[in-house]
Amino acid sequence: MAKKKLGQHFLRNKEILQRIVNVAEIEPQDKVVEIGAGMGDLTALLIEQAREVIAIEIDPALFRILKERFRQRQNLKLFNQDALKFPYEEIGQFKVVANIPYYITKPIIFRLIEVRNFISMTLTVQKEVAQRFIAVPGSKAYSALSIIVQYYTTAEIKFYIPAKFFSPPPEVESAVIKIQRRTEPAVKVADEKIFFKIVKSAFGQRRKMIANSLKSVVDEPKEFLNKIGINPLKRAEELSIEDFAYITNELCKFCKK
Ligand code: SAM
Repeated sequence: MAKKKLGQHFLRNKEILQRIVNVAEIEPQDKVVEIGAGMGDLTALLIEQAREVIAIEIDPALFRILKERFRQRQNLKLFNQDALKFPYEEIGQFKVVANIPYYITKPIIFRLIEVRNFISMTLTVQKEVAQRFIAVPGSKAYSALSIIVQYYTTAEIKFYIPAKFFSPPPEVESAVIKIQRRTEPAVKVADEKIFFKIVKSAFGQRRKMIANSLKSVVDEPKEFLNKIGINPLKRAEELSIEDFAYITNELCKFCKK
């Protein structure tokens, strides 16, 4: 019986699983991390391609199934633990391939972006979330998440998977997205903490004019924005990542070092 609260929607269609593996472009020397291995159908394909697979599964019952199924495989390391707490810092460079439980999509991506040693992530996620990753200014899906992901990575939706291919089917459609780490962030900012603070406070009140949502960051936001040539009446969703970087860098000219 699938455990709904653990996001257990299994993808057992071999053709779709193979398409996911193809998107990941696994080389024979690669180390691959799979988050939420479930019953191991994706794992079975990954161990044929990669030098080493680290598969993490939180559910002890599924972990036992995985242990039994892959008893003989030397290049698979199984971990029965919460993927959010896994020490990714300690395993060198790796590619992630996962049909992740949707309830941890955001925290797991933030965690992996923070540790920085992933090469790419090929993830099956909720369609709406995938669209937020790639969203551009002016679109409904554009959010702080779009800017954070696009700052560190490039992301591309590769294909969609209708709910009927999962067992049991989720209530939403899914998308396979490929996220690749940038060697340099998308824009140069004088202070990353201030950049993300500005982005988060701007989108925290996305319907408000940017001048109002920057009150927590700068004393006289309207005057400041006018002075640097940004229309203070604009809303967060109208500003590009370059605009946010520009606001940060102008503001940082007055930051205390
Ligand atoms: N990879 C399998 C597949 O494609 O059929 C299963 C995917 S299913 C969407 C997500 C899996 O993640 C489930 O097996 C679930 O038990 C596991 N899971 C849920 N929360 C987890 C967590 N915090 N850490 C590791 N695994 C987790």
